[in-house]
Amino acid sequence: MKLFDVYPLQPLAIVRGQGAYVWDAQDRRFLDMYGGHAVISIGHSHPHWVARIEDQLKKLAFYSNSVHMPIHEQLAEKLGLVSEKPDYQLFLCNSGAEANENALKLASFHTGKKTILAMRNGFHGRTSLAVAATDNPSIVAPVNQTENVVFLPFNDEQALETAFSQYEVAAVIIEGIQGVGGIREASVSFLQKIRALCDANNAVYIADSVQCGYGRSGQFFAHDYAGVQADIYTTAKGMGNGFPVAGVVIAPHLKPKYGMLGTTFGGNPLACAAALAVLEVIEQEGLMENARIQGAYLMDALRGMPALENVRGRGLMIGFDLPEAQADLRKKVLMEQGVFTGEAKPRVVRLLPSLALTRVEADLFLEKMHAALLTDVPILH
Ligand code: PLP
Repeated sequence: MKLFDVYPLQPLAIVRGQGAYVWDAQDRRFLDMYGGHAVISIGHSHPHWVARIEDQLKKLAFYSNSVHMPIHEQLAEKLGLVSEKPDYQLFLCNSGAEANENALKLASFHTGKKTILAMRNGFHGRTSLAVAATDNPSIVAPVNQTENVVFLPFNDEQALETAFSQYEVAAVIIEGIQGVGGIREASVSFLQKIRALCDANNAVYIADSVQCGYGRSGQFFAHDYAGVQADIYTTAKGMGNGFPVAGVVIAPHLKPKYGMLGTTFGGNPLACAAALAVLEVIEQEGLMENARIQGAYLMDALRGMPALENVRGRGLMIGFDLPEAQADLRKKVLMEQGVFTGEAKPRVVRLLPSLALTRVEADLFLEKMHAALLTDVPILH
C-alpha cells in the first residue's frame, strides 16, 4: 500500500523534536517557528507532558464514555480555571473540525434554527458542516454544499446586521484571528456586535479558537480581547501539544441532553493526560505572558525589516506579507537557514511557534531572517 497523496511535501523527513527545535533524518537541526501548524504549544516533547502521558499509559489507555472517568472532570476543572470560564461545560472530541461540527450542531439543536453565518476567508475544518462553513470551494465536495451557510465579509458590521434581518440565524462562527485566511484579526466592535445580535435574535456565538486560542494570542481565548463572552469556544491544536484532543467549551445556558453529542475516542485518558500536562505547563511556566512578551518583541523587530510588509498579529500568532521579489523567502529560510515557518496564500508568512519560545530563540530566528533577506550565501546551522 502507498500513501494517499494529498499533501504537497517539503523535501525533508523530520524524526525528532525537543523544545523549539526539530531534527531531520540526517540529524540537521531546524528552529520550529511553525509548531506543526500551531499545534506545539509548550514545546516538542516537553518532559512534563511526556511523563504525564507515560504515567497514564501504564494505568489505563482507554475506556468508553459509558462510565465515569475522573480524568475528564480533572481536565474540565483545570480548563475552566486556566481559561477563566469555570462555569462553562466541556465536551471532549478529537480534532478541530469535529469540535466545530459539534458546536454548530449544538447551536442548531438549541435554537431549532438552520442558518449559519460564517466569514469570508474563514477556515473551520473538513467535516461536512465545518467545511461548508469554510470559505474555500475547492475543499467543499458536492455532498457538503448547503444553503444553510451564508458567508459575510469579515468585520463588516452592516452586512452582519442585514444578514440577521434576512435569515433565521442559528449561529455565527468566527475565528478571533483568522489563521489559514492570513492572520487577520476580528475587530473588537465586530465581535461585540455579534454578541449583541446573537442575544437579540436567540442565536449562538461560536468562537473558533482552534488556531488562535489556548494562550497563543497572549490571552487564553483571542476573542476575549473584545470584552464579551462567546456561547461556545472550540479548541484543538495547542490543547494536546501534538496529542490529538479537542474540546467544545459550552456556556451554562446551553443545556445537554443524553445522546445529543457523542464520540468513541473523544476524552480518552491519554489525550486528557496530555491536555492536563499542557495546562499545567502553561500555568507553571507563565506561557501566556511569554507569548505576549516574545510576540511583541518579534513583531517590533520584523517591522524594522523593510522587505516585509504589514507585520501583524497578537502574541505568538504573527503574519506578514512578502513582496513579489521575496516570494521564495520561506523556502530559503527553511532550506538555507534551517527555520520552519508557515504560509497562507498568496504570500503571507505565518509564525506559530511554541508559546515557550525564548528570547535567545527569537533572536536566532531574527538573525536567520536577516541572513536570508540580505545574502544568498547559505549559513550553517
Ligand atoms: N478551525 C481553525 C481555525 C483551524 O485553523 C483549523 C485547522 O487548521 C481547524 C478548525 C480544523 O482543525 P483540524 O485540522 O484539527 O480538524
